[in-house]
Order: sequence, then C-alpha cells, then structure tokens
Amino acid sequence: MADHLLEAEAVGRSFLLRRRTPFARRRLLHAVTGVSLSVGVGETVGLVGESGSGKSTFGRVAAGILPASAGSVRFAGAPLAPLRDTAARRRQASRLQLVFQDTLGALNPRLPIGRQVREVLDIHDLHPRPERMDRAAAALEEVGIGRALLARYPHEISGGQRQRVVIARALIAGPELLVCDEPVSALDVSVQAQVVALLQALRRERGLACLFISHDLRVVRQVCDRVAVMYLGTIVEQAPRASLYATPLHPYTQALLAAVPVDDPRLRRPRTLLMGEPPSPLAPPEGCRFHPRCPRAVPRCAAEAPAPRELAPGHLVACHLAEAPC
Ligand code: SF4
Repeated sequence: MADHLLEAEAVGRSFLLRRRTPFARRRLLHAVTGVSLSVGVGETVGLVGESGSGKSTFGRVAAGILPASAGSVRFAGAPLAPLRDTAARRRQASRLQLVFQDTLGALNPRLPIGRQVREVLDIHDLHPRPERMDRAAAALEEVGIGRALLARYPHEISGGQRQRVVIARALIAGPELLVCDEPVSALDVSVQAQVVALLQALRRERGLACLFISHDLRVVRQVCDRVAVMYLGTIVEQAPRASLYATPLHPYTQALLAAVPVDDPRLRRPRTLLMGEPPSPLAPPEGCRFHPRCPRAVPRCAAEAPAPRELAPGHLVACHLAEAPC
C-alpha cells in the first residue's frame, strides 16, 4: 500500500472556450495550474479558496472524472485509469468515490433511494444479487437513514437526508478515498454539523481518506488533518491544520482567516483588506498571481512567480516575502 493514496503532481487543467462570434479567437481558460497535492492513507486534506479558485475542477481531476491537461495523478501508486478504459474505471471507481454538493443533481429523481444505493452494487457487481437491497438498507442505516425511507424519492426527503443518501451511495462499494466537493455548504447550520459529525465518525471507523473541498474555513478546521489554500488555480500555501490556523504565512491565507467570524472578540485576527476582485483565469497576472490584490506586494512580485518553500515542517508557502514562524 502506498503511503500516499492520492498523489497529484504539477496538475493543470484548461478549457478551450467557445468563440463568442465566428471571427473571434478561441480563448483558453486556465482553471488549474501546476497543482501538487497528496492525500495519505486515512488522512483528510482540506482544499480551500474562494469561488472560482479552481478547487472543484482540481477535485474532478483528482477523482478521475476530468482528464488533466498537464501533470499526473496517481491513486494507490498507479496512474488514474483513462476515461475510455471502462473496466479499469469501474474497478477504480469502487475505491475512489466523489460526493457532490448538488444532491438533487446527483440522485435520479425517478428512482426510490433504496434502489439508487443498491444500484452501485449492481454497477460494480459486488455481493450476491439477493443480498444487495439488504446491504443498501444497512448502508443507509449507517448514515442515519431508517428503513422506513427506502421507498421514498429524492424530492420527498430533506436536503440533509439527501446528502446522507449521497454519502451512503459513495460508501457502499467500500472506497478508500472520498473526494467531497462542498458536501455541507447547501445545508443549514444545524444539519451541517450533523453531516460533519457523520463524516468524522465514518472516517474514524473506516479509516477513510478524504479530499475535502470547501470555502468554509471553520468546517475545514473541524474535519481536516492538513489544509491547502488555492488562489486563481494554484496552491499558495499548504500545512498541517494546527500550523496553518495558528501561523498562516501567505497574505491570502491571512486575509481568508481574518474574514472568518469568531465568537470571542479576543481571538479576532487583524483584518487584512484584499484589494479588488480576483483576476480572470483567462488572463492570470504575470509573476505572483496574487500581486494585484496583495497588501504586501513589492516590484519583484509582479515579475517573478514565487516557488513553494517549506518554512516549517510540512508547511509550504509560495510567497517571496514569507518568513519561517518564530
Ligand atoms: Fe504578496 Fe508578493 Fe507574497 Fe505574492 S509574492 S503574496 S504579491 S508578497
């Protein structure tokens, strides 16, 4: 077994946009550029950033449902199976599952939820046929959905229950890694807490690894062992959770954390004001991509892209001016 279950190396993903007019040039959108990130066996790694930072695109590449335009992704020591190799994809899909935010989109509105969970066993031909519905019921019970709801349709249950169904579908094949894309952001706060507690329990009991994509730094703090921060398609900082939250070293991470509401005013961080909006990924700035908004930018920042440097154990930062914590 590889120590790193998932290893992404210099991953890039671009999209060629449609022409707006027949004579216009086709434009390339660089959603993800040069991202290297790993998830260890049983580890939960958070990927945070603003909307449009490329974190969901990276999640889809890491889960193998979008091919990378550059770089490589390995799962359990082997390259991700190509999309056209259906048999290999199926074998891999039972070990690596994706949980989406959009639960209505992820579930079939015309099938009762029990059948939708059983369907995963049918697709992967796991367990004898007569056992499959019982196993589906057990998977739903494990995530807190009673047998009474087996015959219900997705629109007949709540958003929190639908997210539990999506998690049960992801778990029933016995995966080693879940890629969770904003799994709780569509839920209200009390239901969020329940789903987060469920994910933590499943992780403890099953030793599941997870790539947890979220814009919510409070949830990420509760759930993750390590955290990577994405800005405009690149990772600007990654560190063990305690190190990142106690001593964020990149100005962007500092700004994100300063914007997180805290109950105790004594724990409030000095506010770092970000200038303007994130630039378009169609034309990312030269040098450090964050320089047009960075309150600490110096002339070098516009000319030279900072390479990640390890300034504390496991704490990597891509900033010319970042210094090791005292
Ligand atoms: Fe700011 Fe320069 Fe560091 Fe980029 S490299 S984050 S612009 S100080």
